[in-house]
Amino acid sequence: MVSQTFTNGKAILYLVATPIGNLEEMTFRSINILKEVAVIACEDTRNTKTLTNYYNINTPLISYHEHNEKMMCEKLINILKEGKNIALVSDAGYPLISDPGSILVSEVLKAGFNVTTISGSCAFLNALVASNMDLSSFTFIGFLEAKSNARKKKLLELKERKETLIFYESVHRIEETLKDMLETLGNREITLARELTKKFEEYTRGSISEVLSSLNEFSKGEFVIVVQGNKEKEKVDDSLLLKEIDELVNKGERSKTAIEIIANKYNVKKNYVYNLYIKR
Ligand code: SAM
Repeated sequence: MVSQTFTNGKAILYLVATPIGNLEEMTFRSINILKEVAVIACEDTRNTKTLTNYYNINTPLISYHEHNEKMMCEKLINILKEGKNIALVSDAGYPLISDPGSILVSEVLKAGFNVTTISGSCAFLNALVASNMDLSSFTFIGFLEAKSNARKKKLLELKERKETLIFYESVHRIEETLKDMLETLGNREITLARELTKKFEEYTRGSISEVLSSLNEFSKGEFVIVVQGNKEKEKVDDSLLLKEIDELVNKGERSKTAIEIIANKYNVKKNYVYNLYIKR
């Protein structure tokens, strides 16, 4: 038995992650949950049928996609009201991650039922972990706008962000999007992850211009773009450096030590701060 019971005893909506390519990337638990629930709400029944056939899952499928989300909520909540658990899957990866499901989660919670997640693949996590970028802090952006002007505007808003940024992109726009990134963000380091977990999986790591020039007629499929955050140093005002050195000296610190402390604090070369102090 893999399903769980919440203390309120109410029925559960399971958000089940499904493979982003390789069908074998299902967990024992996700298969068993999909077998146990009363229905599986899915984006495209034909797509999910491939998965359920592969694992001999005979649970009925109900179509739930961005155009019928609101209408289907009522139907699915009625099943929960009968005390039966249900699952939501998308075509790939986690439901709700650049996929439908937020409305259902919110309505199910509003109706007083339980919502939980069954772990599995997510395209941006795979790409990020193998990207060789700074993972201490990152932001998932997902799909950028379809029109170039709107896309560039959004990229300019993101330009100063220090953390690693992650985007989804389709084959139709990958070249245009990379060109817009080059124009707005500068020639940063990126990792382009293509066809993750599939036969032609590929990681291309390099500057945006290098990655752009590596694209060719075989660069098909689905893409995640992991972009280095803004690494340009902000120029610290000289008067601020001198003011803080003076404050330390006034408190009794030796000037040499004060210079070192402030240079370290603002990540500025010690020689630069020293010359500034002496010349004043
Ligand atoms: N829910 C999914 C998840 O958890 O990653 C994302 C679904 S979103 C509609 C589809 C986009 O995810 C694709 O256009 C691509 O950017 C990315 N993606 C999905 N599968 C991928 C794969 N196998 N390799 C690279 N990117 C993938």
